[in-house]
Amino acid sequence: MSEQHQSGPVVVVGAGQAAVATAETLRKLSFEGDIHLVGAEPYLPYQRPPLSKAYLLGDLEADRLSLKPQAWYAQHRIGLHLGRAVRQIDHASKALVLADGARIGYRHLVLATGAAPRRLPPSVDGNLAGVHVVRGLDDIDRLRRELSPGKALLIVGGGYIGLEMAAVARKLGLRVTVVEAGPRVLGRVACKETAEHVVRLHQDKGVDFRFRAQLAALEGEGHVRAAVLASGERLAADCVVVGIGARPNADLAAAAGIAVDDGILVDGEGRTNVAGIWAAGDCARFVLPGAALRLESVGNACDSGAVVARSILGQGKPYQPQPWFWSDQYDLKLQIAGQSLPGDEVVVRRSDREGLSHWYFRKDRLVAVDALGSPQAYMTGKRALAQGRSPDRVRIADPSVPLRDLIG
Ligand code: ADP
Repeated sequence: MSEQHQSGPVVVVGAGQAAVATAETLRKLSFEGDIHLVGAEPYLPYQRPPLSKAYLLGDLEADRLSLKPQAWYAQHRIGLHLGRAVRQIDHASKALVLADGARIGYRHLVLATGAAPRRLPPSVDGNLAGVHVVRGLDDIDRLRRELSPGKALLIVGGGYIGLEMAAVARKLGLRVTVVEAGPRVLGRVACKETAEHVVRLHQDKGVDFRFRAQLAALEGEGHVRAAVLASGERLAADCVVVGIGARPNADLAAAAGIAVDDGILVDGEGRTNVAGIWAAGDCARFVLPGAALRLESVGNACDSGAVVARSILGQGKPYQPQPWFWSDQYDLKLQIAGQSLPGDEVVVRRSDREGLSHWYFRKDRLVAVDALGSPQAYMTGKRALAQGRSPDRVRIADPSVPLRDLIG
């Protein structure tokens, strides 16, 4: 490591998974300078995925959500500035200005600001109580108080958040309707075959769906009680969860003159257009040969944080995203490796012992595997994708061929 990289603090805005991955990788690579994480939320950096699953169900305590125990930060000399929002990046003098006016100087600045849930327009949500988004601990703690058996829950959006919420709410004994604007669920991450399987599972558990449906208005006095769809249909709604995607938190960057377009634009090594400023995680859009990619996932947060840490130390290697996602709904573990697109050829592998998996091919090349209750198929598919191998389609579809033999 050269002298120039050893010195001067690295300051990370955000205290989520990407921020912790950046700091951890810097220390693993023997960076000895100061590291500071500055985050608006008052909690120790925590995992978000369990929030809409085990935590909401009450199966996991809040302290189990922490990514690292408090002592880890002290041991690694990582300064935590929690509950402190950043107001401005003053990059002429290389300092952050916090909401309370305090300043923190940096040599390298990493933006790991994440994404914020999209909300319904005020004309639709009517500013009523009982309308929730699902992103942080505070959101979940507020929502949890409203989820009592017998109530009618309306979920807007059939993505991961909406479907995970539907599963939890059915387990808790609520009546659940999902209103989805598109023709099917999971449009962003999974293909039609997987979406159909998941919808059938939810329907078997008693969830109602409305597809190609628009919410016209929510109604109630102070607190939501009903929803009216554009079709004129009225639905009971004692509580509403809005899961219609997220928007990258890029305003701070844009105000500082950093290039932004659906995310903070970075090159393959995580570098923005302003020297010494980097971005990682949900907020970053990587401009790679042939594609500009912004992923919202834990895997991306960890990997892109590590990419930025290496780049800061002058050991940069271009990011090669290996998308993977997972979701738990009822007893189904849905795991996705790679990214499929409409039009990909789908090979179905089904076995009583092994579960169900969908293998997607584009021009004879394996591009993604969706595993539905089949962790072995997921692992095999992920390995094949990492190795750039495309197993024979006839053999994939034949469950008598063991998975391990598919990649030889
Ligand atoms: P999340 O992470 O919040 O689950 P996704 O992008 O995975 O986000 O899924 C959001 C889903 O919400 C998509 O299926 C999308 O079609 C749907 N959606 C977006 N806007 C609306 C809306 N106004 N009403 C109903 N569904 C919507």
